[in-house]
Amino acid sequence: MQNEIPRGDFYSMVVRRVIAPLWARRERSPYLRYLERLEKAQYRHRDEVKEDQWRRFKRLLTHAYHNTNFYRERLKACGVTPEDIRSWEDLTWVPVLTKNDIRTHKENMVARNIPGNRLFPKKTSGSTGVSLEFCVDDASLQWKRACAIRHDRWTGWNIGERIGAIWGNPVYRKSLRGYIRNTLLERFLYLDTLKMNEKEMLGFYRRIKKKRPTLLFGHAHSLYLFARFLAASRLMDIRVKGIISTAMVLHDFERKEIERVFDCKVTNRYGCEEVSLIACECREHHGFHINADSLVVEFSREGIPVQPGESGAILVTDLTNSGMPFIRYKVGDVGIPSSDRLCGCGCTYPLMDSLEGRIADYVVTPDGDYVSGISLTENFAMLLGGIKQLQIVQERIDYLVLRVVRGEGFSEGTLKEIGRLIALRFGGKMKHSVEFVDSIQQEQSGKYRFCISKLEGQLF
Ligand SMILES: [Zn+2]
Repeated sequence: MQNEIPRGDFYSMVVRRVIAPLWARRERSPYLRYLERLEKAQYRHRDEVKEDQWRRFKRLLTHAYHNTNFYRERLKACGVTPEDIRSWEDLTWVPVLTKNDIRTHKENMVARNIPGNRLFPKKTSGSTGVSLEFCVDDASLQWKRACAIRHDRWTGWNIGERIGAIWGNPVYRKSLRGYIRNTLLERFLYLDTLKMNEKEMLGFYRRIKKKRPTLLFGHAHSLYLFARFLAASRLMDIRVKGIISTAMVLHDFERKEIERVFDCKVTNRYGCEEVSLIACECREHHGFHINADSLVVEFSREGIPVQPGESGAILVTDLTNSGMPFIRYKVGDVGIPSSDRLCGCGCTYPLMDSLEGRIADYVVTPDGDYVSGISLTENFAMLLGGIKQLQIVQERIDYLVLRVVRGEGFSEGTLKEIGRLIALRFGGKMKHSVEFVDSIQQEQSGKYRFCISKLEGQLF
């Protein structure tokens, strides 16, 4: 039966029961013990979750105050000590941490009392191409590893089962050790996103058919491209237990196409390199559960917490990384918190209704309304004919530059249509000019940006 959903093979059970525990012991990693704890923790009473977060938040703040120059000076400058923070409402007294703070003060953010050999350096490419360097301590890394596995298991996948990953630059190929580890323990099949041509995608399809992974994992857009390729090639017979989309905003049209081609629900996940998994959909697919075991997540606009249903900048406090504390870190994304509803899956962690994308992708109207970049893909770009590619750059509050790559059928009428849509979406006071270009460059990360705001620092 070719189209049946694969079950884990016999070897996956061997990995689960023998290889993974032995490997963890050899690495002296507690991640499997953490996983056991985390599996139970997700069903605790909500009050217990909140109390646990509060206790850990206070401990982290006190630790940061006593062991880093950065947080001590920051809090002193505001006339605040950790003892003054007595309830969740007081959190706004603690200043927000920005990417710029990390670039400028990294050395002073590292805790003095954590030995250097327990800290691991990390680096992100950064949303604007400027990289960000930071450290994570080893206990935090192992905790995060366990969290990721718990959420992978929400899809029906289990430890030891193969995963088909559409991802950039697989690291395991760089060493023999990595290769052995992947073959025996992690069992990833990779499609490198830097080589997503038809030949590679066909090869990936064939490997999936042969090796039968139970989970597909990848960037939202790469999963979509792979699904489209399969549909066009009439190869729609891959069946898996789950599909995890991450690292990019997942558009509705992408989700629909992926679900149609694989006949399987997509689990959308949100995280960032700095703190790892922030929130993840469960099997109910009504919003994202916040990873309350690792983080405190706030949603804020101009320094004030937003109400459920309103969009706000996402601030995260990483409760696990004592090596270099991230407290009220402004990730650069916007989300909408949910009301206090409980989810049918049994997990008690709070929900985020939706992820609205990056702050840097917002357009703000002269009247002060925020329009998210994602909504514009579907309500602006896709309504225009005769255009191959389009990019909106907000230069000033009342002025946009539209970079346009002309396609077949482009005419004067297209320009008029642009003018009409601008007035419709951003109001009559918004001015614009059109700049014709040959192509629109991707960013270093391979992501393509539809909106670029030059007002980013003033938003949210
Ligand atoms: Zn749920």
